[in-house]
Amino acid sequence: NNETAYSFVVFGASGRLALSKIFPALWQLYRDNRLPQGTKIFTFCRTHLEVGTYRIKCVPYMGLSKDRDQIKYNSFWSNVHCCQGMYDSPQDYAELTAAMVRQETRHNMSLANRIFYLALPPIVFDHVTLNISRKCLSMTGWNRVIVEKPFARNELTYKPYQTQLCQTFKESQIYMIDHYLSKQVIHNLFVLRFTNHIWSETWNNKHIAAVMISVKCEKPVQARADYFNQFGIIRDIMTNDMMQLLAMLTIEQPYSNYVEDMRDEKLKVLKQVLTLDISDVILGQYCNNGVETDPTKVGYTQHAYIPKESLTPTFAMVVLRIKSKRWNSVPFILRVGKALNETKTEVRVQYKAMECDRSENKLSIPNELVLRLSPREQLFMRMMLKRPGQELCLRETELNLMLRDRTVPDNYQSLLLDIFAGNQMLFMRTDEQCEIWRIFSPVLAYIDVERPKPLLYDFGSSGPMAAYEMAARNGFTFYQSDEWHARQGM
Ligand code: NAP
Repeated sequence: NNETAYSFVVFGASGRLALSKIFPALWQLYRDNRLPQGTKIFTFCRTHLEVGTYRIKCVPYMGLSKDRDQIKYNSFWSNVHCCQGMYDSPQDYAELTAAMVRQETRHNMSLANRIFYLALPPIVFDHVTLNISRKCLSMTGWNRVIVEKPFARNELTYKPYQTQLCQTFKESQIYMIDHYLSKQVIHNLFVLRFTNHIWSETWNNKHIAAVMISVKCEKPVQARADYFNQFGIIRDIMTNDMMQLLAMLTIEQPYSNYVEDMRDEKLKVLKQVLTLDISDVILGQYCNNGVETDPTKVGYTQHAYIPKESLTPTFAMVVLRIKSKRWNSVPFILRVGKALNETKTEVRVQYKAMECDRSENKLSIPNELVLRLSPREQLFMRMMLKRPGQELCLRETELNLMLRDRTVPDNYQSLLLDIFAGNQMLFMRTDEQCEIWRIFSPVLAYIDVERPKPLLYDFGSSGPMAAYEMAARNGFTFYQSDEWHARQGM
């Protein structure tokens, strides 16, 4: 709408997230004419920034090609305005608002919409939300706030966090951002489950034996090491991104496509997840594998930036159970780790074995649905067919359910567009996070207080053996790597 001005404010713009993620995504949207017309970008932080120098700092992350449209690139930066301020100074927020108003009124825009992106550590969260609410809200359009994890440390610390957020903003204005959820696969999962007879009928404990959600990463802990060492792998990935995936996998069909109906269903299933017990948890920490000569590929406690005595887990596997008619007795296994043998994010839904599996032909394996979010989005079903030839021999094959293989589209850009459009479908509601903390808090408290020693696993390995034993005890089977993907150069 030509009458509408959009102000996008990045708090903490001097930080890593703004440089490496937010500004590149904003530029790429602008380049592709997908950012709403009339969008102005404001930075707010204590550091004195100037557009000229900030622009240079951003270069390594912007994905600039040699034949870029220089005029367009310059025009992107002409829409950026830097404001310096202290997070607890109401006067500095008033100046930020004055800068926004100057831009909004310059072209006689009648509506002013504002997005506030809190790319900040939690320590300043209260000051910033309070000052935004007092000094920065638009009276002639909508206001939205984007918050980044960590969403507090546990159930206890989340309560004041949630209260502060919800006193300042309505749920419809809050976007708890999650970088992991890939739109294509999640949307595909919904279509698969709710519009196909075979999956809609079999998506339950009668047919499914076990489900595993994995987030494996080859890289060791490097960036944000301080934060990671304080929070650990469970808080970093499991209590937000992975639990969102679990909720999406297990919800009942929402009453409508309306976002609140879907969030209501997510909350319902999260309420049915039993509180995690420490006996269903395996913790690991990577150590030097004894052969690696690369100085960056050392054990976790050998990094110069990690305390030598740290017991922070870099690997975790947990088994969750859902008390519902649909999911009773199906274990949901969540596995996440750093410095592992590969990088991938996927969900494997393993079906129960058919009676004929126990016949003389031992080669038969149960069906398995694989949803891979990265490094490439893939969706396929493992099944058995007859091997060509006279004899009745079985062979495993994979049914590709993706229209075509595709590299993961920049999910971050599409999340930002969702925020401009007011689409909260892939964002968590604050009460969902409350349930997630309820599920994990006793185990997290045990880890914080009792400080159990994580099991050591070699850098570049697939994690502690005990985790695989626990998965096997819960009925999950690990197969050789997918043949079909091996053929596709995966
Ligand atoms: P960061 O670099 O540590 O901090 C961003 C900015 O916040 C800093 O440049 C600094 O700006 C200000 N700041 C830092 N510590 C502060 C303190 N103690 N008191 C007041 N201001 C302080 O963080 P980031 O990596 O950009 O991440 C921002 C937020 O996103 C964090 O909550 C983080 O957990 C979350 N997040 C980051 C990533 C990532 O990949 N980086 C991924 C997921 C979530 P000034 O000093 O100039 O004011």
